[in-house]
Amino acid sequence: MYQLQDSVLLVKGIGKNLQESLGEFRIEQVLDLLLFLPLRYEDRSSIKTIKEIKNLSIDEAQIVKSEENQKVKTNFATTKAKVSKFNEYRKGRLLISRATITDEIDQINCVWFNNRFLKNKIIVGQEYFFSGNLKDGSLMQTTVEKVSDENIHTGRLVPIYSQLADLKQGNLRRILAEIISKLHQTGDLEQVFRDLHFPESIDRIVTARERLALEEILYLMQKSAENKKEHQKKAAIFNLPKNFKNKVVDFNLPFELTPAQKKAVTEIFTDLSQSSPMNRLLVGDVGSGKTIVAAIPASILVKNSQNVCLIVPTKILAKQHFDNLQNIFKDINFELINSDNKNKLDKRATFYIGTHSLLNKLKDIKPSLVIYDEQQRFGVKHRQLEKYLDKTKNQPHLLSMTATPIPRSLMLSIFSHLDLSYLDQMPNARKMATTWLVPKQKEEKALEWLVKELLSKDTKNDRKRQALIICPFINPSSYGATENVAAVKESLDRIKKELKKIYQKLEVDKKNELKIEALHSKIEKNKQAKIIEDVYAQKIQVLVSTPMVEVGVDLPNADIIIIQSAERFGLSSLHQLRGRVGRKGQESYCLLFSSNELNSGEIVKNRLQQFCQEKDGLKLAQIDLENRGAGDILGYKQSGLNDLHFASWTNVEIINQAQQKLTENPDYKSFLQKYLEKINLTSNIETATN
Ligand code: ADP
Ligand code: MG
Repeated sequence: MYQLQDSVLLVKGIGKNLQESLGEFRIEQVLDLLLFLPLRYEDRSSIKTIKEIKNLSIDEAQIVKSEENQKVKTNFATTKAKVSKFNEYRKGRLLISRATITDEIDQINCVWFNNRFLKNKIIVGQEYFFSGNLKDGSLMQTTVEKVSDENIHTGRLVPIYSQLADLKQGNLRRILAEIISKLHQTGDLEQVFRDLHFPESIDRIVTARERLALEEILYLMQKSAENKKEHQKKAAIFNLPKNFKNKVVDFNLPFELTPAQKKAVTEIFTDLSQSSPMNRLLVGDVGSGKTIVAAIPASILVKNSQNVCLIVPTKILAKQHFDNLQNIFKDINFELINSDNKNKLDKRATFYIGTHSLLNKLKDIKPSLVIYDEQQRFGVKHRQLEKYLDKTKNQPHLLSMTATPIPRSLMLSIFSHLDLSYLDQMPNARKMATTWLVPKQKEEKALEWLVKELLSKDTKNDRKRQALIICPFINPSSYGATENVAAVKESLDRIKKELKKIYQKLEVDKKNELKIEALHSKIEKNKQAKIIEDVYAQKIQVLVSTPMVEVGVDLPNADIIIIQSAERFGLSSLHQLRGRVGRKGQESYCLLFSSNELNSGEIVKNRLQQFCQEKDGLKLAQIDLENRGAGDILGYKQSGLNDLHFASWTNVEIINQAQQKLTENPDYKSFLQKYLEKINLTSNIETATN
């Protein structure tokens, strides 16, 4: 029997080596493994006769696919049959295995490539389930499983996972099935896990996912309530005089603040003149100008001989804020802190900017204000800050910033410990990118247009134009996964090829050809920084990247963004990406490409078309919610851009349920608590080493 907290080493089928490599994925306990959720499911549930399979043309399979649910692959066919013949032969280095299978009435061939293990597995005369793609009249690369009561690989909705250590899909499934069948005293959770991994129907997956979402929200609500209690006991390190008058006009900014920005600045100043520390969240869409709102009060504190810290998710972003703010606030001292620069702290009052590596220095810096620029990631991190502060002393003011579009009412119910400021206006100069959904057959033309645009210099502003091309995460559970890197490289190659054709067609001079680079997590950090630098210096005109740029890098010069496989992103994520271009107020464009396999899906097309029309981040979040059918839950987790692991900010119903539950039982402890604390902690460490 297994307990949720048991080490994975106890599980049958996991040895020391596997335990170690799972550890690299932060999978240490049985619960961690159970929460390694499928990326998607393949519908191998309906068992067809061989005759039916033969009649199933590929076209038919595709229609079923788009109508039912785009995320459940149904161009698979599963049948139950006996092996009547099996043989293998080599063609060069390729090992080809063939079997003829029969269900008494009809027969069909199965073909495998380079599967050395088959000949030990398949016994002529035995009956198996066969699941595979029908191609040219044969079943290809078929999954074979002996017929039994408890089938996990075929004859059902089969979970498909992203690559975990070097586990094969089949092994991972076996391990999970083993655990789930022997769970000890987990009450109704056993069923939840069964439904997550080996569901009987799509509905069951949805219900189970909702259960996880509920537990996560419950956890957040409780953390928040605890925070509030502790916070109310504390005093601030420093507060401005009660009669402090903030005169925004005195700041000599390069632009005029929007009314929403002014209001937020005032709210912050009011907090800073209280004796208890501020705990405020600044919510504003991408490009709404949160940085300056935080920086104005921060600069005042520095002028009052106080240290302040701005903590951002990436080094790139830290450098960017450092450069920009230094330019605006010329009369105060700034310092950029990285994990690798061992710079001594300044004697003067300083505005420190850095990644999470700043956290380790808080005890020395003793800032009176800490600003967290967390983009999408926020909420639970506040608590972690405490570890880095001297709890016996007075506390710094705390300001977090986020672009997550969460309606105020939801914020109030979940994050009861936070005060809120909303930037619900865009700076005047800023126009959201004009967005088009590009049909497949026009993609080439679109690239040609891109080339022409980029080659035409912006004479008004005397600058080159720039573009971003985004490839989706293939493996959304990890920024660094090799599949993602491969996707970027492949995309770069393809685009380069296409560009070559276009240069020939347009007779572009060799020396004028666009400089194009790829950016992904497997590139050495220094080289990453160099690429970004070159982008800023306009030496690179086209940047091909994973949604890494999404984490808030301001590329003020970029005019155009192309998002490949756009259907894989939630609208909120697309919106964040689109916010990366046109940041100087220049005319900007967002082109959505969709991938081949889903080109026909009407639902997908409609959703993306809606996105082209709608420019409001909050409304898009709402549309995401309305479209959140089984598809979104089963599908690619929306590119990992959201700090919630199971829930969605927009799922009002679950949030209400959580509230209800806490009212009934204020001491309810989410079973996810330890898990969430652990992954939130490790994700911090990850960013700290960025
Ligand atoms: P975000 O809210 O996404 O963090 P930023 O703070 O990075 O947005 O601001 C986006 C861009 O808009 C920056 O280049 C910033 O200088 C500019 N900006 C901010 N406020 C204004 C304003 N009131 N008028 C014009 N430009 C502004
Ligand atoms: Mg920002």
